[in-house]
Amino acid sequence: MSTTQTNKIEIIESLTSKIKEVNFDNLSFGSVFTDHLFECDFTNGEWQKPVIKPYAPFLLDPSTRVFHYGQAIFEGMKAYKDTDDAVWLFRPDENYNRFNKSAVRMAMPEVPEEIFMNGLHQLLQLDEAWIKKGKGNAMYIRPFMIATGTGVIANPSNDYKFMIILSPVTSYYSGDVKVLIAEHFSRAANGGIGAAKAAGNYGAQFYPTVLANAAGFQQVIWTDDATHTKLEEAGTMNVFFRINDTLLTAPVSERILDGVTRKTLIDLAKSEGIEVEIRPVLVSELVEAAKNGTLKEIFGAGTAAVVSPISGFSYQDVYFELPKIEKSVAIQLKDKLTNIQNKLEKDTFGWTVKI
Ligand code: PMP
Repeated sequence: MSTTQTNKIEIIESLTSKIKEVNFDNLSFGSVFTDHLFECDFTNGEWQKPVIKPYAPFLLDPSTRVFHYGQAIFEGMKAYKDTDDAVWLFRPDENYNRFNKSAVRMAMPEVPEEIFMNGLHQLLQLDEAWIKKGKGNAMYIRPFMIATGTGVIANPSNDYKFMIILSPVTSYYSGDVKVLIAEHFSRAANGGIGAAKAAGNYGAQFYPTVLANAAGFQQVIWTDDATHTKLEEAGTMNVFFRINDTLLTAPVSERILDGVTRKTLIDLAKSEGIEVEIRPVLVSELVEAAKNGTLKEIFGAGTAAVVSPISGFSYQDVYFELPKIEKSVAIQLKDKLTNIQNKLEKDTFGWTVKI
């Protein structure tokens, strides 16, 4: 290993690379990681010296708080390489701000912008060869923080570890996505942690989602916990509904993650002259629209899946198949978004940030 000092981040470079072992044409989402990771510890009430070092497992005491009380948060973002080999992030400030909102909600320390952004930039520069060009190819970025203090006492930890790991991804065809509308289980509640990207939100979704999978559905669309009458979001995506020519999506709330893709698609749709209504969307209105033929599309929106068209939904044991349409708004918006992200189209919004 060779050690150098750059902009206050200690860089310990791996002397070997795993890149030659990777088949970039056949990547399973989030399963391959690059040669390096970024790490910064919080101890004694302060952020310590950040380091970039070879990607490797690390040891934790069995009483480490994250294992017992779930103080863990994360982000999901992507970097893209343009035709001139320049690397771009997409609205990284949004992920940074959301990360710290999640930290506050989970009684964890906020990460200073310099540590988050410099760490991200330098890590991407070091593992730049892992970012492939071309639409669909991207580097999935996973910043996360865990409580590393020890002791099985249900208090916030004094110690934390912030890390960034990188996983090259290709666009994935999510296949036929049928969804189940939640009638009993809830993902989030008012006053809870639904708006945070806290690990526990995802673990809690697994059981109802596994039940939905067994019944032939790929995802659950969550409804509000109090009445189960309002459509909220799905898995790791916000959801949009097209009734006639209007796009509907729920307002973000304490229960719904403020998705970067969601807010981007809202702006893109408006700029394309598509009418967008941000308001509670009722299950009854969806069922009615499906019955009378005015429901044209449902799609999920998120960093990982980008835009994911949904082919049908089930509610109270009745399955509604969506019509096959020629002029899909989902595809129109997806093309626009991925063209901007991959720098194939001018970014008039100022969303892309060069590394
Ligand atoms: N909802 C949830 C619960 C999510 O985990 C995600 C993924 N971060 C989203 C929505 C979409 O958010 P984004 O567009 O920022 O990826």
